[in-house]
This record gives sequence, structure tokens and C-alpha cells, in this order.
Amino acid sequence: MKRKKLKYNCLKCTGYCCSYDRIEVSEKDIRRLAQYFEISQQDVKSKHLKTYKLKNKKENIFEIILRHKKDHIFKSVCKFLDSESRQCTIYHARPKVCRQYPNSPKCGYYEFLKFERKQQGDKSYYPTL
Ligand code: SF4
Ligand code: SF4
Repeated sequence: MKRKKLKYNCLKCTGYCCSYDRIEVSEKDIRRLAQYFEISQQDVKSKHLKTYKLKNKKENIFEIILRHKKDHIFKSVCKFLDSESRQCTIYHARPKVCRQYPNSPKCGYYEFLKFERKQQGDKSYYPTL
């Protein structure tokens, strides 16, 4: 099957998708991270992940998500995003949800970034959010 050409370039982006508050991690992702860091799954959970309780649910439902750190472009980002290069530091071990995003040949944020850079006449411009 012919793959559609991607209309975004993560290498030129500031990593907006890595600023999402909840980036969910599955048990399979945890196993991959444990192998990558050569630590136990329990250590992956305690060092790099946290539990998020879903709101507006009658029963208690929790998600395991990536920890964040402060950021100079977005309020906070995934702890694995390099603050300067804006690239993922665990690219080959990143969670499935990161691999799948944006699930389309186009990325809405990248379209916005391209538009702003064109307006500013500066290919490296980034709006702070
Ligand atoms: S926001 Fe879009 S273009 Fe930017 S890093 Fe994420 S997927 Fe790539
Ligand atoms: S693991 Fe990598 S790709 Fe996924 S949110 Fe963190 S920095 Fe971004």
C-alpha cells in the first residue's frame, strides 16, 4: 500500500505534541523503557512516570503518564524532550502514542508554525504559548 507523504517535519518543530499534559504509557511501553534504560519496570514507573486520575468518572480510573519538566516555550513538556534541540532523547524507546501522533499526513500545530514563520519571515521563529 502506498504511504501518504507527510506534510510536517518534526526536526523543524518545537515539539508541541510533547507538551500535552497526559501522554499515556502502556505496560508494553514500560517494558520497552525498562530494557532501554536497563532498569526494572518498577524503577521506570517511579523515576519517569506518574499516575493520573481521570476526572468526571464515577469509578476511579487511572492512567500512567510521562512525567513533565518546566519549559521555556511551553509551560511544561515531557521530561524526555531535549529543551534546546527540541528532539526526543529516547526516540527508539518512546511510547506507542508518540510514534502514532498525529495519526495523519498533516499536523495541525506544524501548519500553525509554518504560517507564523512565513508571517515573521523567520524560519526559526516559534510562538511561546
Ligand atoms: S507537533 Fe507535529 S510536527 Fe511538531 S513534533 Fe509533534 S508531530 Fe512533529
Ligand atoms: S517520549 Fe519523546 S516523543 Fe514522547 S512525549 Fe516524550 S519527548 Fe515527546
